[in-house]
Amino acid sequence: MRSTAFPIGYRYPALITFVTILILTLSTPQHAFAIRTFGSGYCWTSEGAWASNTIQFRIDGSVPSSMYTAIRTSAQTWTNIGASSVTFSEQSSTNYVAYGLVDARYAAITYPGTYGQNPLTQVHTTLNSYFLWSTGGPSGAFDVQNITTHEFGHWLFLDDKNDSACSDETMYWSIPAGSTTSPIETKKRTLELPDINGAAYQYP
Ligand SMILES: [Zn+2]
Repeated sequence: MRSTAFPIGYRYPALITFVTILILTLSTPQHAFAIRTFGSGYCWTSEGAWASNTIQFRIDGSVPSSMYTAIRTSAQTWTNIGASSVTFSEQSSTNYVAYGLVDARYAAITYPGTYGQNPLTQVHTTLNSYFLWSTGGPSGAFDVQNITTHEFGHWLFLDDKNDSACSDETMYWSIPAGSTTSPIETKKRTLELPDINGAAYQYP
């Protein structure tokens, strides 16, 4: 069962109806950087943006401390993109990563605070405690950094890519669970060019 591919994350299906809100926000002076929405390119699709290029996050108390470094590294991976001004900033925030039981079809789920809201104002991710997790050891079902890098991509409004041509990308929609016979996947830890292009489009 755990060798099956599990979809990860959430696609913000309702956001496409809120273009009007985005346009109104563009007139707000403190949001001087270019807010973009509905972009797409080879192996990336975006559906919206935050009103700022700095996205706050905190690690919820439900998360085992052994996962902290992996989560912070995932956030830093997006911050480090040279072509994008997006920055993840760890501080007291209503945006958070948690650990708990969610729908067992998903390794992790990212929830917008208000469905259909664009720009986004709150988001959180829950890593599913139904599964085993690893931070790089030889065993464990899911690699924390692998999945949180993908989920932070959703925080940027990047979509899942359900296309076999995009299977090397961080935003590819699914991940095989590691087992004693199949190695744990870590390739989503590092961004591929389409992931970078999507972030750079949203947050130039
Ligand atoms: Zn996803």
